[in-house]
Amino acid sequence: LMKQLEKLRELPSITPDGTEITLYTNTGLLADISPGLHNGAQGVGLYRTEIPFMVHDSFPSEEEQVSVYRQVLEAYKNKPVYMRTLDIGGDKPLPYFPVDNEENPALGWRGIRFTLDNSQLLMTQVRAMIRAAGENEGLRILLPMVSSTSELDDFLQLLEDAIAQLETEGLSILRPQLGVMVEVPAAISQIPFWAEKLDFISIGSNDLSQYLLALDRDNPRVSGRYDHVHPAVLMEINRTLDLASKHNLSVSLCGEMAADPVAVVLLLGMGLRTLSMSAAKLPQVKWLIRSLPLNMAEALVSRALTCPYPAEIREMVRTELEGLG
Ligand code: PEP
Ligand code: MG
Repeated sequence: LMKQLEKLRELPSITPDGTEITLYTNTGLLADISPGLHNGAQGVGLYRTEIPFMVHDSFPSEEEQVSVYRQVLEAYKNKPVYMRTLDIGGDKPLPYFPVDNEENPALGWRGIRFTLDNSQLLMTQVRAMIRAAGENEGLRILLPMVSSTSELDDFLQLLEDAIAQLETEGLSILRPQLGVMVEVPAAISQIPFWAEKLDFISIGSNDLSQYLLALDRDNPRVSGRYDHVHPAVLMEINRTLDLASKHNLSVSLCGEMAADPVAVVLLLGMGLRTLSMSAAKLPQVKWLIRSLPLNMAEALVSRALTCPYPAEIREMVRTELEGLG
């Protein structure tokens, strides 16, 4: 089996009926770069910049960030690298900048809310990303936890300022593509307002499920009730994909669903064509894609969207998958 998975690296990720599916990897550690490339990732669909920040004991300088980000961008040449601005707070504490005394950290000072309130920090990070890219066309900037238009507007202003500064300094740089994570449910309905300001969206199915179900899967008392193959999650993702396509936004998904075979079948059936996951999961997802007729995935989605029970949805998809061998 290992040998077969090894061979997959060279093979395209394409369904039996000829639809190409783009596979990216999630990373945050430089140590993850080679496994992603080794397993055939076509880019980085989520670079979690919290990780280089967490391993430090104070905020890394602009120069330090440039050097780390450049290694990632260069490893992937001009392929897409979705660099997410710092997403600390909530489940991602920063040891040297504790945000305590929050009654509801998941609903608190985190992601874009935190960085916009610490704009010097955000400016440093954005400058570092753009400098690291230079004339590399791969850089995509991805914003976490966006829930309102003014957050996007404030970021766009900061981005303009960063670009103006760097141009004044005489650097040759490119304007990066910009996207937001769709992970706060409120983002979905606002896609029509945001489409003109954005190049892409990335569905963060971990937080999106947590907020839609109001359920913390890290809390052992309730985690048994967590399932991202929940009808409400599927319907909201389906709505997101429809809105993205209507507004010409490219869309990817970078949560755990991207590596769950049952979810992958449903996502492809709904029309998603780009998935990002940890490097270790790439071979088995590619294997699934190469054996899955899209019309079968589409038929399963029609049935799944009328089924009220996550367990039944799983059972139904699994039974069909077993028929594929
Ligand atoms: C998500 O929320 O689905 C996601 C990919 O981001 P993170 O897991 O880093 O919060
Ligand atoms: Mg998230």
